[in-house]
Amino acid sequence: MKKIIVANWKMNGSSESTKKWAQDFMLLIPEVPYGVEAVACPPAPLIPLLNYLMDSSEVKLGAQDCHAKPEGAFTGETSAELLKDIGCGYVIVGHSERRTYNSESNEIVSAKASSAIKSGLIPIICIGETKEQRDRGDTIKVINQQIDESLPKEAGIGNFILAYEPVWAIGSGNLPTMDEIKQVHDAIIARVSKSIAIETSKVYVLYGGSVKADNAGEILALSNVSGVLVGGASLNGQDFCKIILSAVS
Ligand code: PEP
Repeated sequence: MKKIIVANWKMNGSSESTKKWAQDFMLLIPEVPYGVEAVACPPAPLIPLLNYLMDSSEVKLGAQDCHAKPEGAFTGETSAELLKDIGCGYVIVGHSERRTYNSESNEIVSAKASSAIKSGLIPIICIGETKEQRDRGDTIKVINQQIDESLPKEAGIGNFILAYEPVWAIGSGNLPTMDEIKQVHDAIIARVSKSIAIETSKVYVLYGGSVKADNAGEILALSNVSGVLVGGASLNGQDFCKIILSAVS
C-alpha cells in the first residue's frame, strides 16, 4: 500500500510562494517515488495555479474543505463537485480548526464527506482528541464517537481516508509517542473495520500533528500509519520533499 503524504497549507501562501514551492518541489522530486502518493492542499484560490505549475508532476491536488451541497445559494462556499472539476482528487474535511472556529459538528463533517465521495473526491476525514479529553483518559471514547458520527454511509473500500490528528499536537511541536500513535491507530482501524464491515488492511489512517522532516521517517515506519498530514512543515517545498523522501528511505 502506498504511503500518502498530504500538505495542508491552511490559510497561507500567495501566487509568488506557490511558484517557489512548485519550483523547489520539481527540482528535488521530479518524479514522485514509487510507493508514495503526494497530495498538496493549498488554499482554494491557489489550486488552479498549482495545478498548472505541477502539470508534469504526479502530485495530486486537494482542498481544505468543501460544502455539503453540490450547488446553490451558499455565498462564499465551494462544492466538492467544483473541486473535482478544477482537478482535485482529495478534500480534507473536519479539520480541528474548522471544528473549532466554524463549529463543525460530526454531522456536518459526515455530510461533507458524503458529498465528496459522491463527487468522486477522496475525503480525508480528520478526528482527534483535545488535551483535556486526553488527560481525562477519554481519547478512545472521543475517537470512537467521531468515527461513528463522521463517517458517511457511502464510506467503503478505497473511497475515504481518516487522519488521526490529536488537537494538542497540531502546530505545538508536541507529539504522542510512537507507541501511543500505534495504539490509537489500532483502535481507529478496529472501529472502522467493524462499523462498515471492511478488512482492517483496507482502512487507511494518516497521522497528523507536528510532523517535520526530522520525525516523519519514524512515524511513517509504523505499520499501521498509512501516511502523514503535514501543516506547518509543508509550507516550505524543500521540507515537504524531505518528508516525502523519508517515506521511502
Ligand atoms: C494540520 O494542519 O493538519 C497539522 C497537522 O498541522 P501541523 O503539522 O503544523 O501540526
